[in-house]
Amino acid sequence: MMKQQFLADEAQTLDFGKRLALAIMSPSTQGEVSKNLGAVVYLTGDLGAGKTTLARGFIQGYGHLGPIKSPTYTLVEPYEFERGNVYHFDLYRLSDPEEVDFLGVDDYFEEGNICLFEWPLKGTGRIPKADLLIDLTDSGTGRALNCRSDSEKGTKIAERLWP
Ligand code: ADP
Ligand code: MG
Repeated sequence: MMKQQFLADEAQTLDFGKRLALAIMSPSTQGEVSKNLGAVVYLTGDLGAGKTTLARGFIQGYGHLGPIKSPTYTLVEPYEFERGNVYHFDLYRLSDPEEVDFLGVDDYFEEGNICLFEWPLKGTGRIPKADLLIDLTDSGTGRALNCRSDSEKGTKIAERLWP
């Protein structure tokens, strides 16, 4: 499954992130607190494409109220919730995929968690397979979003986004 969407400005990127978060929460868990689907989402695109913006929208949509730092230097920022945890990775500064093993993130990759990866190729072989691959490219003053699902779970999420 492959979908395209135009995001005219930053607000639309934030909103897409928020809708993605809602799509990952199973209908029965929206509102009440219980574990949701979990998902692995790869976010690709050049520097400045809007990957962190989308992740911010996601984390806010998921229910986080405080500030959201870019994991540029820390490589990963954890957000823990009763309904399931969200781990936001930015692997840009990784020089070798093996370095992922030294981040102490094994628990982060458990089923039911949500992992968002910026620069996933830098972690090739050391990070879980994607359910959804989201790519952002410049398009005029906005961005073109391409979304591909690569698992049953990913397809289910995409069907909720584009019913
Ligand atoms: P990345 O993490 O991919 O390097 P950022 O999320 O940090 O990129 O965003 C880079 C810039 O792009 C920010 O200034 C942000 O406001 C802007 N931006 C995000 N989405 C859009 C959009 N749909 N149209 C135009 N500008 C956008
Ligand atoms: Mg970024």
